[in-house]
Amino acid sequence: MKSQDIRKQFLDFFKDRGHLIVPSAPIVTKDDPTLMFNNSGMAQFKEFFLGNGTPKSKRIADTQKCLRVSGKHNDLEEVGIDTYHHTMFEMLGNWSFGDYFKKEAIHWAWELLTEVYKIDKDILYVTVFEGNKEDNLPMDQEAYDIWKELISEDRILMGSKKDNFWEMGDQGPCGPCSEIHVDIRSAEEKAEKSGRDLVNADHPQVVEIWNNVFMEFNRKADGSLEKLPAQHVDTGMGFERLCMVLQGVQSNYDTDVFTPLIQKIESLTGKKYTIKASNEDEDKLNIAIRVIADHVRAVAFAIADGQLPSNNGAGYVIRRILRRAIRYGFTFLDKKEPFIFELVDTLSNQMGEFFPEIKTQKTLVQNVIREEETSFLRTLDQGLQLLENVIASTEGKTVSGQKAFELYDTFGFPIDLTALILREKGYNLDEAGFEAAMQEQKARSRAASEVSTADWTILTQGNTETFVGYDQLENEVKIT
Ligand code: ATP
Ligand code: MG
Ligand code: MG
Ligand code: MG
Repeated sequence: MKSQDIRKQFLDFFKDRGHLIVPSAPIVTKDDPTLMFNNSGMAQFKEFFLGNGTPKSKRIADTQKCLRVSGKHNDLEEVGIDTYHHTMFEMLGNWSFGDYFKKEAIHWAWELLTEVYKIDKDILYVTVFEGNKEDNLPMDQEAYDIWKELISEDRILMGSKKDNFWEMGDQGPCGPCSEIHVDIRSAEEKAEKSGRDLVNADHPQVVEIWNNVFMEFNRKADGSLEKLPAQHVDTGMGFERLCMVLQGVQSNYDTDVFTPLIQKIESLTGKKYTIKASNEDEDKLNIAIRVIADHVRAVAFAIADGQLPSNNGAGYVIRRILRRAIRYGFTFLDKKEPFIFELVDTLSNQMGEFFPEIKTQKTLVQNVIREEETSFLRTLDQGLQLLENVIASTEGKTVSGQKAFELYDTFGFPIDLTALILREKGYNLDEAGFEAAMQEQKARSRAASEVSTADWTILTQGNTETFVGYDQLENEVKIT
């Protein structure tokens, strides 16, 4: 089944059960100071759970473009290394705002997975909240009893507060959740080790696909819980992971969500992606290809939604993601010329029907990415060389934060990129030292602005030191 049809079937299923289908909110949040990017389906409905405003319908379903690269959910370092965490992904979701609760949510999730999508029950596991002494909460018996009518009890696992209790923040709506996991390993692997032992254990073929949250409490300022006046359901299913299961492949990157992008990368670079790497070089190549296929989606959708790469805030996060992709292409695919922008056409053909913004903004997205590539490639070679020198002059295995700061300041090397390259080479980064150098520079520029008078600035000794680097960064900001 094609990914397009998988998405449609989800939405149709919930539409048939009285849900209003709404569009995805933009990937970049516009009016939530606590959140840079939408990182889950519920983000756009947050206010309703807080009791501010009423939704258009008590039942809603959608697919939400999510980005998990900052704050509470930051998967960036896993992306490309593993095969099931993305920076940008779609989260399919259904919601009840004070309407149906556990029974309907669980029954529908089960019906959709096993009867509509026809997933074999014997590859599924579910988890239920085990309870928590601190909060004086018992296990979620209600969810357990509903599940045991549907699935054999040896496939129900108890989960801790960390995995099975969802909270919006330190205060506010919260409640137990029940998650559905798949085990798509081969029969031989299953005979060797039970899937039960691999749930929530970072196995690439035993993965969580769907989280069903039952919001029934409110966490008060003093930390205690009270029952909410109305109970809500908030669910989120990873679309690419669902496609992996339904298309019978072993990784999200082998689904039709990613194969067109991977094929295009292959034709642009002359390198080959292998489903299973047989040596370390192939593994590195695969990681680089996955990183690029993943990151171009995040960057393209962010730009299409209005977030251009820049030197601060959300714009800097987007720039960092793109620079990470450029560096992987440069080091592992030998691409010294811009090429990532050429993937936008493929992406737009593939996703444009459901997300028209990627089609209508295509030219802008291409231009911005090409400019970013051009400008970063110009300094990358030199910067990498400098990093090599820094490593060569490092005694021990920890690289100075001050030196990393200079690379950031002069060559626009995002600090996570420096850390990543160091990790690849078996070194650590003195992060505290980097932070201190960063703070020092901020203090210097504050001091500099304090002595500036209306029409001209009196340069202090401090800020002349970093002036060249700053200039360089400023040049790179010009993207259109
Ligand atoms: P995981 O434990 O795999 O990191 P999670 O518990 O952080 O997932 P939730 O916050 O429960 O994820 O989000 C709901 C669903 O979204 C998950 O069940 C999963 O299918 C999907 N999902 C979460 N993070 C990612 C990601 N980085 N890339 C792709 N899908 C994801
Ligand atoms: Mg996670
Ligand atoms: Mg999880
Ligand atoms: Mg989860």
